Amino acid sequence: MRAVLKPASLEELFYQLDRRPEALLMAGGTDLLIRLRSKPAPDDRPLLLLADLDELQGIKDTGNEISIGAATTLTRLIADPLSRHHAPLLIRAARTIGGPAVRGMATLGGNIRTASPAGDSLPPLYLLGAEVELASRQGRRRLPIAEFVAGPGRTRLHNREIVTRILLPHAENFPSQTFEKVGLRRSLAVAVTSFAGMARLSAAGILEEVRFAWGSVAPTVVRLLGLEAELVGATLDRDTIRNAAEIVRQGVSPVDDIRATADYRRRVAGNLLVRFLEGIHV
Ligand SMILES: Cc1cc2nc3c(=O)[nH]c(=O)nc-3n(C[C@H](O)[C@H](O)[C@H](O)COP(=O)(O)OP(=O)(O)OC[C@H]3O[C@@H](n4cnc5c(N)ncnc54)[C@H](O)[C@@H]3O)c2cc1C
Repeated sequence: MRAVLKPASLEELFYQLDRRPEALLMAGGTDLLIRLRSKPAPDDRPLLLLADLDELQGIKDTGNEISIGAATTLTRLIADPLSRHHAPLLIRAARTIGGPAVRGMATLGGNIRTASPAGDSLPPLYLLGAEVELASRQGRRRLPIAEFVAGPGRTRLHNREIVTRILLPHAENFPSQTFEKVGLRRSLAVAVTSFAGMARLSAAGILEEVRFAWGSVAPTVVRLLGLEAELVGATLDRDTIRNAAEIVRQGVSPVDDIRATADYRRRVAGNLLVRFLEGIHV
């Protein structure tokens, strides 16, 4: 039978990890338990529950950033006034994850650690300049989210190290923001392609700053920094938008899978940008 361990402090967690290095960390279990159940061979590694660790809970303003405990559920994240104010884009994405029952269990830390190309919190976190705080017996370190995610299902987390918090800078002035997810159905859908965008237009209709990120069109989130730089100073006429969409279609590298072809994903990635840019107003 599988042992379930419930450490009450980080110190106890690291002690347990030293004793049972094969133990599996579990937050909400919405990814982990499904993965374990789908394994053909029995797996009786112990579970180390993270839910009771105070250090991994809650959302607070530290003065210069917002600090979100890794074991904060998506339901709590969505309801929290601080995250709603400083990270509305993340809230929009979190609302599309699973249904209410899943969001009540699933945590932000679990979503980023799963590092799925379709992980919906990731495109907003990239645009918001999120950093991830990691802790082990050796101490703490921080990594930008784009460095933390190393590939599909892979992160730069070391053995016996956990994600403690996700840090976001205070809200910046981006009047136009969107998160869109194209799936095979309206709810409980895994993204065929997702898109997060932020933009600020001057009173004269000139783009002052833009940030874009796509999910499910490459092994990890795609940002096209060259395109973002090119668009600064541009006006949003038809040619600019058409050229930008073409750069996106060429810049992403999706694969064919059971949900969609690579070609479809390319087209959707470009179309989502077009829809966003066409909707931006002063
Ligand atoms: C029906 C259903 C629908 C879903 N729909 C979506 C969707 O639309 N979009 C989407 O993005 N996801 C979706 N998911 C996936 C899922 O809910 C998320 O990825 C979830 O956020 C994972 O969080 P968790 O707390 O449940 O993680 P767990 O399952 O507990 O853990 C996931 C992984 O992260 C590790 N881990 C968790 N917390 C930490 C930590 N603090 N430090 C280090 N490692 C950690 C675990 O060891 C495990 O490897 C869906 C899942 C289900 C079951």
